[in-house]
Amino acid sequence: MSSEVSDATGSGSEGAFREEVRTFLGTALTPELRAASEQGFGIKRADGARWHNALFTQGWVAPDWPVEYGGTGWNMTQKHIFDEELTLAGAPVLMPFGLGMVGPVIYTFGTQAQKDQHLPGILDGSTWWCQGYSEPGSGSDLASLKTSAVRDGDDYVVNGQKIWTTNAHKADWIFALVRTDGSSKPQHGISFVLVDMKTPGIDVKSIVSIDGLHHLNEVYFTDVRVPVSNLIGEEHKGWGYAKFLLVNERAGIAGVAGSRRAIDALREHAATSELQNDPDFMVRLNSVEVRLDALETMEARILADLAVGNSPGDAASALKILGTEIQQELQILRVESVDHYALPFELDLIRGESNEAALGPEYGVRAVSDYNFGRAASIYGGSNEIQRNVIAKAVLRL
Ligand SMILES: Cc1cc2nc3c(=O)[nH]c(=O)nc-3n(C[C@H](O)[C@H](O)[C@H](O)COP(=O)(O)OP(=O)(O)OC[C@H]3O[C@@H](n4cnc5c(N)ncnc54)[C@H](O)[C@@H]3O)c2cc1C
Repeated sequence: MSSEVSDATGSGSEGAFREEVRTFLGTALTPELRAASEQGFGIKRADGARWHNALFTQGWVAPDWPVEYGGTGWNMTQKHIFDEELTLAGAPVLMPFGLGMVGPVIYTFGTQAQKDQHLPGILDGSTWWCQGYSEPGSGSDLASLKTSAVRDGDDYVVNGQKIWTTNAHKADWIFALVRTDGSSKPQHGISFVLVDMKTPGIDVKSIVSIDGLHHLNEVYFTDVRVPVSNLIGEEHKGWGYAKFLLVNERAGIAGVAGSRRAIDALREHAATSELQNDPDFMVRLNSVEVRLDALETMEARILADLAVGNSPGDAASALKILGTEIQQELQILRVESVDHYALPFELDLIRGESNEAALGPEYGVRAVSDYNFGRAASIYGGSNEIQRNVIAKAVLRL
């Protein structure tokens, strides 16, 4: 990476840009928002929207988007500094479904009317999206999906079920893969549609996951009428748009800055406890950090490629595997680091809904909950086994 950033922000140097981001965070990232960030994907919509809006007002909400659609025009170094500062400061994660997933699909493949209708709400955070890909029996083998969309005049009539739909209960819109042709090869009869969650016939049922929180849902479609104008690109060609989105999704799961923050917190905790004298713990912590350094270098190389218009392609699979393995190893170390204080599973505290003091250190309250939910990181976005298959086929040509 260059040591000097371009003039995109008018800030001149890397250091000045970092200072500009820190100054912004000093006022915009309130203690309440920092506390809300502990909820991860379970963040309350009002808290998530406040943080989203603060970034939008500053013009910094979509660094990866082209400038013509609301991007910042930052170079790779600036984007890296921005991500790093936000994560280290403990800023809430923005929901990826609009900004990171469907937004790029809409500005790349959508009609002008779709861009006009949807991009402003994605940018200012007023519209929340969810992802309707997986179905019971169609996760890894996504192309076998059965939710059908049958043309009837100017509408499709959609019937079927999606599952594991993160934040469907908070979302205004869902982007869904539906089968519009059952007679050809599975990948050929799929279409990508945008569906208003208020449409009659949509039923959302909650799934409480092993962390004790509600992020996941089942979404049922019964004779849901979706205007044909909500189709992205060409009918039956949705598989291509779906894969474009998945590459972006996987590259975003690596979570380098989040793991860096977790390492800092573990080191801070170790420094004030017996752990600093535990060679096994410290060697494992150091070895994760070395792997994280390697991952960061690999991510920087891929991001530099992206900046000149190349897709990360199959490299996104490697990022996903390494990034999620590191996250999971850090979650194990965190549980071990709080020892017996990992035992109480204090749901109200985990959900941020209690004023009671924790039994042990505050740092340990969510250790087991995060560990439990962290098992999902090697499943969502396409399981790590499937990513290994992708690498075996596309990179190693096995
Ligand atoms: C927390 C969480 C959030 C999610 N959010 C969303 C969401 O918002 N929207 C959405 O659409 N989906 C979402 N998903 C679904 C996710 O994409 C699927 O769970 C994932 O693709 C795996 O599919 P599956 O659960 O059907 O497992 P299966 O496909 O049944 O796989 C079961 C096991 O078999 C292995 N396996 C399967 N096929 C192969 C193979 N060919 N070779 C080797 N191993 C194989 C898998 O790796 C896995 O270990 C989410 C999942 C989780 C856990």
